Amino acid sequence: MVNEKKTAPKDLSAASLLVVSGRDGRPGSPLNRPLVPASNFILGTERAYSRDDGTPTWEALEEIVGLLEGGHTVAFSSGMAGVAAVFDQLRVGSKVLLPDDCYQGVVGLAELGNQKGMWSLQRLAVDDTEGWVRACVDADLIWLESPSNPLLTVADVRAICSAARKPTSLLAVDNTFATSLNQRPLDLGADFSFQSATKFIGGHSDLLAGVVTVRREDLRAALRCSRELSGATPGALEAFLAVRGARTMALRLERAQANAMSLAERLAAHPRVGRVRYPGLSSHPTHAIARDQLRGFGTIISFDVRGDAAAADAVCSRLGLIHHATSLGAVESTIERRAAIPGQEHLPPSLLRLSVGIENVDELWADLEAALRD
Ligand SMILES: *Cc1c(COP(=O)(O)O)cnc(C)c1O
Repeated sequence: MVNEKKTAPKDLSAASLLVVSGRDGRPGSPLNRPLVPASNFILGTERAYSRDDGTPTWEALEEIVGLLEGGHTVAFSSGMAGVAAVFDQLRVGSKVLLPDDCYQGVVGLAELGNQKGMWSLQRLAVDDTEGWVRACVDADLIWLESPSNPLLTVADVRAICSAARKPTSLLAVDNTFATSLNQRPLDLGADFSFQSATKFIGGHSDLLAGVVTVRREDLRAALRCSRELSGATPGALEAFLAVRGARTMALRLERAQANAMSLAERLAAHPRVGRVRYPGLSSHPTHAIARDQLRGFGTIISFDVRGDAAAADAVCSRLGLIHHATSLGAVESTIERRAAIPGQEHLPPSLLRLSVGIENVDELWADLEAALRD
């Protein structure tokens, strides 16, 4: 049929899906899904108003991520907007479980709701699988993040997903650090797989967006309803850029991940470096679960500089190729001292979180070595 839209085959590898999906495929249609800055559409189909019904550009992003994660994806204006849509599913008086090491924005949102009396909050150590399994019994929302930020502890997601819980309970995994290329939370038993598309999907530090993926049709409708009523819709340009970023995501991740493994090993052997936290190192406390559960170990490394906070700050200021900047998952390497951030004072004072990019690995190492030499 000449005018039928071709759909991407579901059995392709993630690397190919990232490239071929999210396109129209009809003769005469643009090869790339266009950037559609539209609030409203001519009436006559199910698409009337973009906040309610989406746009072709958002849908390209949703199609790509949905195929990668094995579910239906709803895109949001930022990662936190997606997180808020998941928390929006809770009723007053719910019980929420959250890791002790967890993205700060999620902690802030959960604590605010707790202070307002909307839900109670219990924090658990990421690697305390038995504790999670026990606490799941009467929890309403189980929020996992694995590997965790910034200590990179890997949770036993499969074991926690199979814990006994209330039929109405919801389990969400923050998949931002792993990405859908290294971990598919819905396959492990999660109800929601969340990613900040600001990070690896966008990959170029130039947009904010979030994606939440579910298998259940009722949860998809609930997320779309939250987006419609909160107005947390993706920008047209951001969705377009996120799709553009997704095209190269497998290549970027492969290169950055190989760089990260190599740098983690070299850092671990450096006399001015204390503990190195990277799930790919056999010395990592949750390396065994990481090997079993993840297809790759990611691009984030946390390491302690020997000495105090000032010594770690000095390392950051001496780096040239690696940018002293927050965030992660982009083509460029970035580093920051996490305990310097308000609310993160509990972290080791000289811990640096390095997001490894796609630069030449020997040049990255030369930069780190020179900065550590003082
Ligand atoms: C960045 C991030 C978020 C929040 O996403 P935004 O796009 O910044 O709103 C949530 N979780 C993790 C692990 C993140 O790294």
